[in-house]
Amino acid sequence: MKTHEYDLIVVGAGAAGMMAAITSARDAKNVLLLEKLSQVGAKLKATGGGRCNLTNTLSQEDFMKKFGRDGRFMQDALKAFSSSDLQDFMNRIGVETHAPDGFRVFPSTHSSSTIINAFTDEMHHLSITILTSQKVQEIVVDDAKVIGVKTTTNSFKTNSVILASGGLGYPVLGAEGDGYKLSSDLGHSITKLHPAMMPLRTKETWVAECRADTIANATLKVNMKKYKKLQIKADLIFTKTGIRGPAVLDFAREITPLIEKYGEVPIVVNLTKGMNEDAIFKYLKAKNIYTLLPTPLANEILKLAGIEEGFTFSKLDGIKKDTLIKLLAWTPLTITGHDGFKMAMITRGGIKLNEINPKTMQSKIIKGLYFCGEVVNIDGPCGGYNLQWSFSSGYLAAKLL
Ligand SMILES: Cc1cc2nc3c(=O)[nH]c(=O)nc-3n(C[C@H](O)[C@H](O)[C@H](O)COP(=O)(O)OP(=O)(O)OC[C@H]3O[C@@H](n4cnc5c(N)ncnc54)[C@H](O)[C@@H]3O)c2cc1C
Repeated sequence: MKTHEYDLIVVGAGAAGMMAAITSARDAKNVLLLEKLSQVGAKLKATGGGRCNLTNTLSQEDFMKKFGRDGRFMQDALKAFSSSDLQDFMNRIGVETHAPDGFRVFPSTHSSSTIINAFTDEMHHLSITILTSQKVQEIVVDDAKVIGVKTTTNSFKTNSVILASGGLGYPVLGAEGDGYKLSSDLGHSITKLHPAMMPLRTKETWVAECRADTIANATLKVNMKKYKKLQIKADLIFTKTGIRGPAVLDFAREITPLIEKYGEVPIVVNLTKGMNEDAIFKYLKAKNIYTLLPTPLANEILKLAGIEEGFTFSKLDGIKKDTLIKLLAWTPLTITGHDGFKMAMITRGGIKLNEINPKTMQSKIIKGLYFCGEVVNIDGPCGGYNLQWSFSSGYLAAKLL
């Protein structure tokens, strides 16, 4: 077994780990980056459908609010490395960015490869030692202080480790929960872990007939008294087994814990861009259901209402009219499950926040151990939130070493 000495060892070459390695190397530290896959940045490459929505233009305050009650934990990291700092950083390594919709920020090339190449060049330029196909198995500690790292084949000495090993979503891209084991072996606690941001399955099988039908600005609401506040408005796509799309990704974050608790979760969907029953009535009087919805979906809604295709709205009896209007305003669906972590873009849960110092990202239990990115119990919605958190926390963890 070989033994080396480094100022810093970073575990995981994802968004958070690469940012941490670069930040530390720019401060003249001797950095080793260990990655278990054969390449760096595998998940980063897959982000935003290959386009990488790396951040957004929200103010720090509004950004934190989107993460719910734990959002404030990010305050120091976001202050140290804001969205505009990230865009400046990207420009400095040769990646131009832009926000075509004024909100979501992408590389101007609309290709995540641009970012991976720029990160790789910068890491080489800074002489960071990058070892791939190196799975870290143990963070070695003596007297509650980090003294090294062991991989399956090697041993390395250091007094500082940044754990940037990600969560459990999309395991083919490296996230297999190793960080939870590595940190709990050292006394850290891990919250309950839920897959989040993935397609959802429904009990209703009629959705299969509407596969790929896309509804702009659908409103989804949980139809349970206790959770009435859980709702979202965004684009929705029907699948063979349920629903997907931007609305579903964010909704799934809230719903997975409920599926676990209740087995199934009733929801209602407004398919009419938020029209209320009066507005739908007026619309159907003036036009027809086929100008409102894609034909397969319109036909399924008619079947649910017990109405023949090719009907004339004015000729329907009052009960049928009422049933149809209510179905369009609030189509009932029952969420029964999902594909688990296999298709989850993000993990809900992680290393407990009260065991990490938010000013430095250092462990409160082990000296010299730092955390960043998805391994920490922080997760946000779709729209560049999770990458910004990874970059900001990676920067902060490395900056104050
Ligand atoms: C398909 C998809 C699309 C997404 N799109 C977006 C988007 O557009 N915008 C956005 O903000 N977020 C997006 N996300 C979420 C975002 O990708 C993650 O929040 C972010 O990548 C987390 O970064 P990380 O560095 O913490 O973890 P990761 O990127 O998962 O990196 C962790 C790295 O650690 C390595 N590793 C794990 N264990 C070990 C070990 N024991 N030893 C050595 N190495 C190890 C892994 O192989 C991996 O390379 C998307 C996620 C997915 C799956």
